[in-house]
Amino acid sequence: MEIRDDTIGVYVHIPYCISKCPYCNFSSAAISSPPEKRYSDCVIKELSFYLETEGLNGRRLETVYIGGGTPSIFSPEEIGRVISSIKGRFIPLGNDIEVTLEVNPDTVDLKKLAAYARGGVTRLSIGAQSFSDVELESIGRTHSARRALDAFHEAREAGSRNIGVDLIFGLPGQREKDWESSVRKAIGLRPEHISVYGLTIEEGTPFFSAFKGRAGLPSEEAEAAMYERAIYLLQEAGYIHYEISNFALPGKTSVHNSRYWADKDYLGLGASAHSYISRPGWGRRWWNAPDPREYMRAIENAGTARVGEEKLRREEAMTEAMMLGLRRLDKGIEGRAFKERFGSLPKESFKRWEALHKDGLLNGPNDDIVLTPKGVLLSNEVFLKMAEGCL
Ligand code: SF4
Repeated sequence: MEIRDDTIGVYVHIPYCISKCPYCNFSSAAISSPPEKRYSDCVIKELSFYLETEGLNGRRLETVYIGGGTPSIFSPEEIGRVISSIKGRFIPLGNDIEVTLEVNPDTVDLKKLAAYARGGVTRLSIGAQSFSDVELESIGRTHSARRALDAFHEAREAGSRNIGVDLIFGLPGQREKDWESSVRKAIGLRPEHISVYGLTIEEGTPFFSAFKGRAGLPSEEAEAAMYERAIYLLQEAGYIHYEISNFALPGKTSVHNSRYWADKDYLGLGASAHSYISRPGWGRRWWNAPDPREYMRAIENAGTARVGEEKLRREEAMTEAMMLGLRRLDKGIEGRAFKERFGSLPKESFKRWEALHKDGLLNGPNDDIVLTPKGVLLSNEVFLKMAEGCL
């Protein structure tokens, strides 16, 4: 956590995909030709609404992140129009701020990637998920391993020097050696950033009924072993494990996502997007209608599609700052900034800290608190115990 500042990150959600993956519970609709112009107009109109009503004029723009869904389903012209509208409404925090676009390998080619770069995209996040065709098919992805590799090379050829590759472990039928092979292939590409996520089986998805009781999925022990193996291989290859699921070459961490973990403000635009403003009080968040048609109708009629809002209480804000801070393996919960905001040090605020320290799950350099390597493997348990003991 860092001292309150006047910067902002903007997230834009594009809720369309070429098909719906059976494990996915993100807000996204499968569609062959999305209403990109109408939707982009709504995002730009929504931005104006929040600039006026939330007093965000004068904020310095640090990052833009366009996620989904599959944002690369939109043309470079529409993505460029959204980016320049956002940049034009804030004071940029430098000449070359981070503008990330999530990319599905099946929706891009060299020409399109070059056009995104001309439109202002400075960072790509490629959803490879696996480099095994069998696994990709098992999770309903439309792209092949070859296409993911090609998309990466096309991105490099188009000039991108900041690329992230996403992988998922714990896939149906996946063995540890299969996972290792995907991780090694990702490392072989030498992207600036690699994210590894465990497959989660979410209620309401086709996978939820297909994998009741986890039959057909790797055991929890096998999943833990996969995660540990990825940590070893990535660190050995020079990637810094800076967040529970994220690894980066030096100086190449995701600036936008780091804002979330540092408890900094962000404005979310688009269907289902969430926003968070940390002041006044203990912070406030709001969120938009998840259905794209409902979102567009609401924006066109009223300028906003906000359907929910909550003001955080002090204890909630402290618990969130703790959970987000501990995710940052390089920084943890920063004692000085925490005290500045809440009036007490994290070690004074979470009574379980000492027991968890004795168990070898947390370390406490100076006034800060960080997860130990053992704590990283048991992070959910640590978060829960710390939250129970919030004073
Ligand atoms: S491409 Fe991504 S957002 Fe779209 S359905 Fe698949 S997992 Fe969900």
